[in-house]
Amino acid sequence: MENCLFCNIAGGKIPSEKVYEDEVCYAFQDIAPQAPVHFLVIPKAHIPSVSAVTAENSGTVAHIFTVIAKLAKEQGLESYRVVSNVGEQAGQTVFHLHFHVLSGRDMAWPPG
Ligand code: 5GP
Ligand code: ZN
Repeated sequence: MENCLFCNIAGGKIPSEKVYEDEVCYAFQDIAPQAPVHFLVIPKAHIPSVSAVTAENSGTVAHIFTVIAKLAKEQGLESYRVVSNVGEQAGQTVFHLHFHVLSGRDMAWPPG
């Protein structure tokens, strides 16, 4: 999608600090990290949020989770949090599906 920030980041039109890339997904450092480790994993195809996940595109989401597990292992993360905000009230500000991977500090539960 032309005017989507994360489509443009995945397509290399807007610079980002790459963590990982394959044909299906792109991982990069969050510009405003909320923990010592904070990167985002996004599908290259535009999916607005978790609420737009269907039987047709769920393979992409499954793949992203295998990538998250691999990256966490490679980075030696023993404890981490995977978050996807859906909708404004939950804190979603970019309407292209993304999974936050956060680690390196104590985290509260329930979240604020
Ligand atoms: P959300 O608020 O939608 O759950 O998460 C969006 C995330 O994208 C935020 O953590 C925010 O810091 C990050 N972000 C927003 N704009 C940019 C950008 O231009 N580059 C990068 N690397 N991260 C961004
Ligand atoms: Zn997009």
